[in-house]
Amino acid sequence: MEIQPSRQSDDTDLRRAYVHLAEAQRLSQTGSFTWDFDRGELLWSEELCRIFELDPATTITTDLVGKFVHPADFPAFVATLEGAAAGGDVDLPYRIVTASGALKHLHAVGHRIEHTAERPVIIGAVQDVTARKVAEEALNKARAELTHVARLATLSALTASIAHEVNQPLTSLVTNASTCLRMLAADPPNLDLAQITAQRTIRDANRASEVIQRLRAMFVRKEPAAEAVDLNEAAAEVLALSSSELQSARVDVHADFARALPSVRGDRIQLQQVILNLVLNARDAMLTVDDRPRNLWITTASGEPGQIRLSVRDAGSGIAPENFDRLFDAFYTTKSQGMGIGLSISQSIIQGHEGRLWAARNEDGPGATFSFSIPSDVAGPTEEVSKEL
Ligand code: ADP
Repeated sequence: MEIQPSRQSDDTDLRRAYVHLAEAQRLSQTGSFTWDFDRGELLWSEELCRIFELDPATTITTDLVGKFVHPADFPAFVATLEGAAAGGDVDLPYRIVTASGALKHLHAVGHRIEHTAERPVIIGAVQDVTARKVAEEALNKARAELTHVARLATLSALTASIAHEVNQPLTSLVTNASTCLRMLAADPPNLDLAQITAQRTIRDANRASEVIQRLRAMFVRKEPAAEAVDLNEAAAEVLALSSSELQSARVDVHADFARALPSVRGDRIQLQQVILNLVLNARDAMLTVDDRPRNLWITTASGEPGQIRLSVRDAGSGIAPENFDRLFDAFYTTKSQGMGIGLSISQSIIQGHEGRLWAARNEDGPGATFSFSIPSDVAGPTEEVSKEL
């Protein structure tokens, strides 16, 4: 009689522990299992059966489990089983396709229980990480799309300047072609001048088509390339593309490009996007400046050994100390029309090139300087050039 209440409370505690465990497994979407090799016994928790969409009464065998494993993950699954049988730990991310056709991402962990030294028994847990995986994939996709959208947004701001860029050579082309016709129609025809104007026509047509080509390259969305990039050339192109944009904001551009600069290895379009972003930010920072020249300096140099540095310096409003730490945060902007993602995207691009992007307040005048530094192309003539510089 005295034992009875105690046994009852043991049962209650056990039942409560079981309910807690089952609930915790359901909430964390984690099933558990024990696997007794010698007895060929595989015991699964209810949650693990639910994850696999199996009736809890099913007799589980490794063969049965193997039938659900995604074919691409099957070799790793078999290798893990073999490793576990030999006493190794289990740590396996893998996918299954359930009877209803659902694709699930699972992560199994397990280890041998020491107190059954005479018999190999593994205890483990399997978590359904599908939701996290799907969210990660969606996040990566959204990131890629955001970069693309940001590029388009920057470019759409440049549409006016581009129209101007294309229009100029086209107007000149028409003028030169008409002059050429007039020279040919003259009596006697002025062949020398006709030839010169025809050559000018070709030059203008080439210039217009180069603008279009550069534009197309910037619009096309592609995986980051790893090609040798001449930063001087890349920066000069960005300046050419944004020249009328800078002119209309009355910005004086001063370029100081290091001679025989070693190339860097990376994605030309992405690096141009960073430069463009720094140049347009510098322009924006000077829009309210009326009491001094709106000077923009763009410089390239071999910085620390094996590094190439590009800086964009302006004489603009500068950066308030309290805002310094937030500059590279996504969606931080002080502009009414700003999106605040330019610098954060630029930073990920530079980090993707194993480099660094930073801002500094100008010591010797108003404004700010944004610089990035990335490793030079190892195949490039780094030593030779640094001597020359
Ligand atoms: P957005 O240009 O859309 O605002 P960015 O990420 O390019 O987004 O820049 C974020 C903020 O950093 C800007 O709004 C501005 O306040 C500040 N900033 C960027 N470049 C400069 C600069 N050259 N001088 C002063 N402030 C700058």
